[in-house]
Amino acid sequence: MRTVYLNGEFIAENEAKISIFDRGFTFADAIYEVTAVLQGKLVDFDLHLARLRRSLDEMALALPLDNAELLAIHRALIAHNHLQEGLIYLQVSRGVEDRNFAFPPAGTPPTLVLYTQSKNILASPLAEQGINIISLPDLRWGRCDIKTTQLLYACLAKEQARQRGADDAWLMKDGWITEGTSNNVFIVTGDGAVVTRELSRFLLPGITRGTLIALLSQHGLRLEERACTLDEAREAAEAFITSSTSFVYPVVSIDGQPVGDGKPGPLTRRLRQLYIDHALALTT
Ligand code: PMP
Repeated sequence: MRTVYLNGEFIAENEAKISIFDRGFTFADAIYEVTAVLQGKLVDFDLHLARLRRSLDEMALALPLDNAELLAIHRALIAHNHLQEGLIYLQVSRGVEDRNFAFPPAGTPPTLVLYTQSKNILASPLAEQGINIISLPDLRWGRCDIKTTQLLYACLAKEQARQRGADDAWLMKDGWITEGTSNNVFIVTGDGAVVTRELSRFLLPGITRGTLIALLSQHGLRLEERACTLDEAREAAEAFITSSTSFVYPVVSIDGQPVGDGKPGPLTRRLRQLYIDHALALTT
């Protein structure tokens, strides 16, 4: 049984209890972060902390813990669970108050939860096989740049993908791909440019996306930050997704049509390896 963190305590997961009036439960009034753990250490943790602070600010949510305290809690939870490889989730909600849409009084303590999941990130079969994607309309709210726990449409889209025999869905707005249900989208053009959508309120500023962009420039690879259509993606030489839970997964088909030769592409494989090398070197 795992140990989890709840509001200052490290306790067994079956003992962690939250009020039914927690605003995370009633309104999804909560934000979260997910950091990968490799060799028992956190990957790109500073970047996750920076995005956490941004999400808190955008939601006017106060968390009375500084970055050193958050790092210490992450490390302690990894140690409690002997986690070598996997993920650590952090969620902050606007605390507990009888149901009321407006914010609770200032000073209401937020609810802070952390838990771990063990996962083989490096030796993942999907990284070898690639994943199959379907496209669906992007029916999410207008602030997808904030990492809130309001993931209902992502759940519906992922389930539709599963029912149709696919691994995930790419979300389409006004004819353009925004992102995957829980990942950012990249394609590789016939002349070797790597294309990913520019940041806006339509998509999450993925930490893996940002790091991969930095790696592209370090290795002299060409990047185009712009939106692309489904037709362009289907005709691309390669396609892939990025996230902290997958790092880089090749995309081998879109709506049943193969991308390139229907196998993980060479540049995608190289970028996955570059990212893994970076992640192993840059752990906290
Ligand atoms: N977009 C969405 C909608 C996501 O949920 C995620 C993963 N949390 C990402 C992109 C990828 O972000 P990151 O690389 O920080 O995991």
